[in-house]
This record gives sequence, structure tokens and C-alpha cells, in this order.
Amino acid sequence: MSYETECPRCKTLLVVTERSMGVPGGQEKEQGYCPLCREEVAEFMTDGFIVVKLAESQHQLLQTIFNASRLGIPLPPHVVASAANFIASGIVTIADDGKLNIPINVQHALVSHHQPLKKY
Ligand SMILES: [Zn+2]
Repeated sequence: MSYETECPRCKTLLVVTERSMGVPGGQEKEQGYCPLCREEVAEFMTDGFIVVKLAESQHQLLQTIFNASRLGIPLPPHVVASAANFIASGIVTIADDGKLNIPINVQHALVSHHQPLKKY
């Protein structure tokens, strides 16, 4: 089972996946949390556990911002606009010169959820 949901706190589009262990009668109530802000985003009965990842589109957007940040190149306005929810929630920070950055704690959170930002 897998479905998309939006984090109520940071508004990131997420994919919630149930990883069933196939254990008969082993159902327990489990929770899933937003990888970026730790808000609880899912709770249901399962015999396994709940995995929450960023939707591919959201991960690609962060990767685009990360690349531009590292290379010091400006982002097109439509990319900045589509990152509005990340900026509002502090997952992406905006400098005085208008350049976007991804804080190190956010980079670490992505690594620990197996969605690291790649350094090309
Ligand atoms: Zn969140």
C-alpha cells in the first residue's frame, strides 16, 4: 500500500508506504513521520512498519536548489516560486542576496531517510 499525502506542518508532498512483514495476526498501530520536520503524517494498523519519503518531484526540487546553491548560480523565478512552501517552513533558507540554501540539518535528514542530495 502506498499513497501521497501533504505534511500538515511543512506542506511537503510525501509518499507513505506500508512495508508489510506478512505476519498473520501481528497488527499494531504504527506511525509515520515527515522526513523533514518530524510531524506525524500517518497512523494505521499494520503488521510491518510505515516508510515516509519525499515525493520524487519534491526531492528533485531540493536537488535543483542544492545544485544551484553549490555552484553559486541563480535559480529561475519559477523554481524559487515552487519552493515557497520549503522557504516558509525553513527547509530552504533564502539569503539577503536572494540565493537559496539547504541547511545542513535538512541535508542530514535526507541522508538518514535514504534520499540524499547528490553532489554532482
Ligand atoms: Zn513536514
